[in-house]
Formats: sequence, C-alpha cells, structure tokens
Amino acid sequence: MFAKRFAGLKPYVPGEQPTDRAYIKLNANENPYPPSPEVEKVLRDFDPALFQRYPDPDARELRSAIADMLGGGVSPEMIFAGNGSDEVLSFVFYAFFDSDSPLRFPEHTYSFYPVYAGYYDIPVIKTPLLSDFSIDTEALSEGPGTGVIFANPNAPTGIYLPLDKIRNLLDSVPRDRVVVVDEAYIDFGGETAVPLLAEYPNLAIVRTFSKSYCFAGARLGFVVANPPLIQALFTTKNSFNHFPVDALTQKIGIASCRDSRYYAEINGRIIKTRDSFSASLRKAGWDVLPSLANFVFARKAGLSGRGAYEAIKREGILVRYFDIPGITDFVRISIGLPADMEKLLAVMSSL
Ligand SMILES: *Cc1c(COP(=O)(O)O)cnc(C)c1O
Repeated sequence: MFAKRFAGLKPYVPGEQPTDRAYIKLNANENPYPPSPEVEKVLRDFDPALFQRYPDPDARELRSAIADMLGGGVSPEMIFAGNGSDEVLSFVFYAFFDSDSPLRFPEHTYSFYPVYAGYYDIPVIKTPLLSDFSIDTEALSEGPGTGVIFANPNAPTGIYLPLDKIRNLLDSVPRDRVVVVDEAYIDFGGETAVPLLAEYPNLAIVRTFSKSYCFAGARLGFVVANPPLIQALFTTKNSFNHFPVDALTQKIGIASCRDSRYYAEINGRIIKTRDSFSASLRKAGWDVLPSLANFVFARKAGLSGRGAYEAIKREGILVRYFDIPGITDFVRISIGLPADMEKLLAVMSSL
C-alpha cells in the first residue's frame, strides 16, 4: 500500500500548538506583535472575486516589492517567493544538492535540514559547533561536498555569524557548490549577506515573513540569489506546484514590504526586550548564549532542558527543549511581550 521511500521518512516536529489551555506561547519564535495596519487595510479591502482566478504564478508584483524593500541593487529577477520558507527550502534542496556528494551543515542548526536531506536522499556531514556554540566555518568548507547550508543567526543557539566569516567560507568553497544562508532571524540585529551576492554567484539567501514580518499563519518565504539560481528554483516549483503563493498572501506580502518602518519599530522593541531579558536571566544564574535572534537559548547548572520546560509549562508558559545530544540542557525561549517575559523571568528565577 505504501511506497518504499515512504518507510524512511522522518518528519520535522514543530513547537507544540496546544488548544487545551491559554498558555503564554514562547515556543515557536512567532512575533508577539500584530502585522502592520497596512495588512489590515488589505484584508478589509480585499475583493473575494480575486479568488475566482489563479494568482500570478510568478508573483511579479510581490517580488518587485521584496526587491524594493531589500534595496542595494537587488532586482525582482533575484527573488523567488514560495509558501513559507520551509517550502522554499524544499525547492532549494531539490535544485542545488545532489545525492553523490555530502551536504554540510552544523551539527546543531535548523532541524528541518536533515529532514529534507532524508526526503531527497542527500548524504549529510554534520560539523560540530565550536566550544562557544558558534558555527565552525572552516569545517563547513572542508573536503568534498555538494553544498553548504546554515542559519544566520543560527537556530536554536541564536548566535550570529559575522559577514567576514561568511565571506571566508565563500572564498574557500568551490564556486560550483551552492552555499545557502537561511536568514530567518536576520531582522533582529544581524547584518544581511545580501551585499555578497554581487561577488558570489553560488550564494543563496533564504528569508521568511513568519518571524520578523508577523505572519507565520499566512505562509510566505523567499530566496534572494543571482538570476541563474532563481531560474532553477522556478523550474523546480513549476515541476511541483505552479501556484504556491495565493492571491491574498501576495497582497499582504506587498503591503508588508511597503511598511518596513513599522516592522523595524516592533522588531526594535523585541531586540530591547531580548537584551534586558537575557541580562536579567544571567543575573538569576542562567547561562544565556549571546543571541541576535528573537529567541534566546539558556541553561542552568543541574537542570535539564526538559525539566526546565516542564516546570515552566506548569506555570502556564510554553518554551521549547530539544532531545538532541549536546543541547539537552538548554531551553529555547521566544521573545514575547515585555509583560510575558517578566512573568517568565519570575518563574525561571525560582528554578
Ligand atoms: C522558522 C524557520 C523557518 C521556517 O519559516 P516558515 O517561513 O514559517 O516556513 C526556516 N528556517 C529557520 C531557521 C527557521 O527558524
């Protein structure tokens, strides 16, 4: 009844979305602020007749709006948009990584990468993090390989890799290997690798609207890369699903791009909350990794990640722990509204 390939699937497990109790939800790196008022306006004015027709399969207006938002010489031909960055990543894995040579990524990074590698039968080499939990870029560029992928800032550590390190990595990787930088959290204080695209034809940058643009529920992600890579992603998409971004999501995506001032403001607030929360948590005896994301990764001596998660959950707050050797003593905490972080701080200070 089932295909042989199905037996080997190991699906990704997202942060829990419980419905049994009104938890304070700090477990999926969602944005605690609402989308821009411009998005509300689009929803109010939306003509349902638009649903009668298929959306623009190439999302041209949206890609122009994304290019304008990014600036710095990025053209719409350098943008590919899809149904969330998870789908975009699937196309990236399909189009750029082969089965006869290993894909390299850090041992601890976004846990969807090994899932896609399994799905597309791509062998993997996981490179250990350095002792401070930062990414070892030298190890990523060593030996044979079909490509490299990592998140910057990395997940679940939150640690940011400076651009000069990314440049060194690109300089030591052969130009026929694609290097993918997943910038899901770049709007929380890091510097984007987009300017490097002018020099490196094998660089692809993945972004999402789920975190810094407040719509995890609408599903929109994109790739910024040079046109040959973007064309390969269009070919891949058109071999799978012609219309991954629906008409309404294209419209709210455009409205969001045109109001980046709003997002800079709310994400600035998240950065402030993150930094003061981290400082207070350290004072309370926790080891908090330096984060430039909208979450922090923290541990306390003598406490397991699972133990901390359970104690925090009993107080009505959801965070995340990982049953993965090497990081079992950590919890990952998404940055929420200041009042919610105060409540969490009180709970964690008592552990
Ligand atoms: C959340 C996340 C994604 C997925 O984003 P969606 O656009 O919601 O699919 C991709 N990469 C990383 C590193 C993430 O943390």
